[in-house]
Amino acid sequence: MVHMSRRVTSTRLSDNRELIYFDDPETPSRPPGALVDHRDLPPRGEPGEVRFDALSGEWVAIAAHRQSRTHLPPADQCPICPTTAANPSEIPAPDYDVVVFENRFPSLGPVAGDIPPAPSTGGHGLKGPALGRCEVVAFTPQHTGSFAELGETRARTVIEAWAQRTEALSALPGIKQVFPFENRGADIGVTLHHPHGQIYAYPYVTPRAANLGAVARRYYDDVGAKETLAASLLRAEREDGSRMVLEGKHFSAYVPFAARWPLEVHLVPHRHVADLAGLRGEEKEELAHVYLDLLKRLDALYPTPMPYISAWHQAPLDPVLRPSGQLHLQLTSPRRAADKLKYLAGSEAAMGAFINDTTPEAVADRLRSVAVAPASAKTMEDSPA
Ligand SMILES: [Zn+2]
Repeated sequence: MVHMSRRVTSTRLSDNRELIYFDDPETPSRPPGALVDHRDLPPRGEPGEVRFDALSGEWVAIAAHRQSRTHLPPADQCPICPTTAANPSEIPAPDYDVVVFENRFPSLGPVAGDIPPAPSTGGHGLKGPALGRCEVVAFTPQHTGSFAELGETRARTVIEAWAQRTEALSALPGIKQVFPFENRGADIGVTLHHPHGQIYAYPYVTPRAANLGAVARRYYDDVGAKETLAASLLRAEREDGSRMVLEGKHFSAYVPFAARWPLEVHLVPHRHVADLAGLRGEEKEELAHVYLDLLKRLDALYPTPMPYISAWHQAPLDPVLRPSGQLHLQLTSPRRAADKLKYLAGSEAAMGAFINDTTPEAVADRLRSVAVAPASAKTMEDSPA
């Protein structure tokens, strides 16, 4: 597989976790000696549990061992900054561009494999090891900043990492869904300030993906497999126009007709593609541009940066849901005013019944009209802010 001159180097940390460097095209190669983890980490723990909730028919991961994980460390002890003599971090290199590594405190893993099949009825007491894999994606060696501040070259390298990891994780035994995401801002529960995202590879189809996947499958069957539900909604939104945020050659973004969150944008490829690994080079190039544009629009709405969840919905690996699934991004924020957050309370948290205090059309209008500076073609390090 060719990675458009982006070098990919896989190595192992001292506890045998995999760590992978994804380099920008112009980055010179690093001597292998600079990539050795000199820490003496304890062996990795056993997986937690997945337990089957017979009441809802959903799996729940029980990861009590994660309580001891790092929580908002000071900048000089950041585990995602490049290693220095004073801070032997998770990334044993003096510098890097983009890095992906296995989470030291994973909710799922460290090994992947099959969990017991979910029964169609009953199943009380069913459990298994929390198999799967959780990875961390460091977007930049710089401790401060955000994805929105990356240059297009660096954003494109992150997209290459997402695509490569999606392909690799999808091939692991027992994996049913690969989910790249970013939680941004302490309001979302971020435990590390350093700009980073995560990728979860689940041993089951998650409840929301199962729900969306079943609806998408019914539509796909209804129209004789002529188009996906995501494609039909994108077509309708582009014809209507009132909720469109941006339109590109390969990707377009809109606020959904029945948005659940005060701020919610869906970014959808024009072509039927299952996941990030299926994108072509020119699509990934444009994605770097439009994704940065979207994030800058979010940040421009209020005087302070927008807390958000950036969630890449990819077609599950389940053979029934796979053909009708389509890659798309759901970008959501609980922020409903400069100083107000929406909390998931009774109706949403207990019943899953969302009540949105904003109108999707007004939110789309704000996102369209907000002034945004174009992303630099350079990386963030080349153009200090
Ligand atoms: Zn850092």
